[in-house]
Amino acid sequence: MAKLTPRPGIMDITPYVGGQSKDTSFKGKLSSNESALGTSPAAVAAYSEAAATLHRYPDGGSITLREALAAEYDIEANRIVCVSGSDDLLTMICRAYAGPGDEVLYSENGFLVYPIAAMSVGATPIAVCERDYHQQVDNLLAAVTPKTKVVFVTNPSNPTGTYITGDELARLHAGLPNSVALVIDGAYAEFVTAEDFDCGLELARNADNVLMTRTFSKIYGLAGLRLGWGYGSRQIMDVINRIRGPFNVAAPSQAAGVAALGDTEFVAAAVAHNSKYLAWLTQQITDMGLFVVPSVANFLLIKFDSEEHAHACDLFLQDKGFFLRRMDEYGFPDHLRLSIGPVDENEGVIAALHSFITRPNWDASDE
Ligand SMILES: *Cc1c(COP(=O)(O)O)cnc(C)c1O
Repeated sequence: MAKLTPRPGIMDITPYVGGQSKDTSFKGKLSSNESALGTSPAAVAAYSEAAATLHRYPDGGSITLREALAAEYDIEANRIVCVSGSDDLLTMICRAYAGPGDEVLYSENGFLVYPIAAMSVGATPIAVCERDYHQQVDNLLAAVTPKTKVVFVTNPSNPTGTYITGDELARLHAGLPNSVALVIDGAYAEFVTAEDFDCGLELARNADNVLMTRTFSKIYGLAGLRLGWGYGSRQIMDVINRIRGPFNVAAPSQAAGVAALGDTEFVAAAVAHNSKYLAWLTQQITDMGLFVVPSVANFLLIKFDSEEHAHACDLFLQDKGFFLRRMDEYGFPDHLRLSIGPVDENEGVIAALHSFITRPNWDASDE
């Protein structure tokens, strides 16, 4: 008898597993790169206010939010699309341009949503080699074939925290055929203070085949709402607007997003906090003799002596109430990723890490 069967390839997808969050007894949830300063009070107020009109459909075009984004970034509102979490847009771009037999390129140690998005539409994800924790423009270009439809880069990258300079990004775009969509995922772009960083906005403004994706989940502290946006050419927007859900962004999310954008003090405080503790945590951990990948984002990738060492540290820190992210699926089994948290959590995790490192037997064979 015929049975219900998903399309070929769907059952090959490894489901995405997020950072630990179930445990309520934690002192520090430093596993998902969430905002260290919580959410802007203005955004929370706007969200609550929207509760009075929940019986109404949201504005299907997210017009007010797009206009606020357009004003903030000096870009055209009609070339912005708002989405229910930028992950959604990463899948939509694959759905729009790739399918069975096509290839989708991403950097080998990059965000796991890219291969999932590619496979969900039947396309083949191709992992491209990195070097020294950096995405490699030459390797990405060398991997392009006539089957390539989408290239994902993350700037800055997760989980390494490194970035591609503006010049390198331009070189990548110049080397790609116009028939390939270049997606620049800037989930952490707001945190970066480096001068030679480029979030891809100008490329997205000037090229037909570039989409920059952004999120309210990280610096704006709205991960729970699922709100993201993208900026790209008219052609790309025309395509995305045909395949997105008609009311794809909830009304309270739109309202909170507008308020969050308006709270420039909150964003400035978040950048200042991040810059300060990025440097402080890097220094503290380096002083313990561990290698920390130089990061410009709101997290750090820490290298341990071995996979066992990293796992033992993870368990030790969990026991003390601190949750970091294991990196096995990202190709870094001997690393852990630490999000920059609030002051007390940063200090607490450093104290706990210090006790782990200075224990005579880290392998916990005595327990
Ligand atoms: C967190 C993150 C996102 C954001 O996803 P949302 O769906 O908007 O929450 C996108 N890309 C990368 C690389 C991320 O780490």
